[in-house]
Amino acid sequence: MFDDLKGRRVLITGSTQGIGLAAAQAFARHGAKVGINGRKAPADLDATLKTMESAGGEAAFFAGDLCSSAACKAVVDAFVERFGGIDVLINNAGGLVGRKPLEEIDDEFFDAVTDLNARSALMTTKHALPHLRRSAQDSGQTASVILVGSVAGYTGGGPGAGLYGAAKAWLHNIQKNWVAFHTKEGIRFNTVSPGTFDTAFHADKDEAAKARVSTGIPMGRFGKPEECAPTFLFFASHGCSGYITGQVLDVNGGQFMP
Ligand code: NAD
Repeated sequence: MFDDLKGRRVLITGSTQGIGLAAAQAFARHGAKVGINGRKAPADLDATLKTMESAGGEAAFFAGDLCSSAACKAVVDAFVERFGGIDVLINNAGGLVGRKPLEEIDDEFFDAVTDLNARSALMTTKHALPHLRRSAQDSGQTASVILVGSVAGYTGGGPGAGLYGAAKAWLHNIQKNWVAFHTKEGIRFNTVSPGTFDTAFHADKDEAAKARVSTGIPMGRFGKPEECAPTFLFFASHGCSGYITGQVLDVNGGQFMP
């Protein structure tokens, strides 16, 4: 089904664990050339890369704290130097940073949340754009940018997560502008919007808290990162989604139905 992903050059930001890593492993199983990224190399990096290569992909790690625009450019440049171009960019780096109610938000926290969730995606996409354009021209197929939104982008987020929710809503929205102005260049933009997935993102919750959250999810449980991965394959594959752009795909067990 995803045969056309073989050999595609896929850069996934924030992918040393969780949803991003599960996506990277899925792309490797389909024979893609995959770049994973995090602020620094994780302890299990060698094993991770080896597993991805023995699954049939090519894999490399690109360190960079994407809160910095210079690092966004450096990661894109290093990926292009390694693989010769970019066909698919997945802007997955993101997170809560912390929980602060409105009255406790200061400039430093505002910058930290918006840099990680909004600036990183915009700057990485900006620097990848010439390569994505070239990919579309050379292959005659669309190149694909995938953003990672959130159920919080609709609901506003839980306690102390208002800024995070707003940054994710910003992503859901800004792709509309990119669709309007870059579709003619052969680039598609779509968003995968997870609900509640069992990753380090929820490390602040004990089992009782997770059980309480699960009661609000019709599926009755958190998602597993590998259950999100196929949506990235779908939006990356020209054969599957070559006429789909500007969409938000909600992967949330029925938690929210916009
Ligand atoms: P995670 O904490 O397990 O993974 C986050 C990844 O981002 C890690 O690989 C980490 O190294 C990387 N990262 C963090 N800061 C970075 C930085 N400054 N520069 C580069 N990389 C950085 O979380 P996850 O649950 O896998 O989240 C992945 C994405 O999904 C995030 O954008 C998150 O907001 C979104 N999301 C998660 C959930 C959920 O319930 N888990 C729900 C909705 C949206």
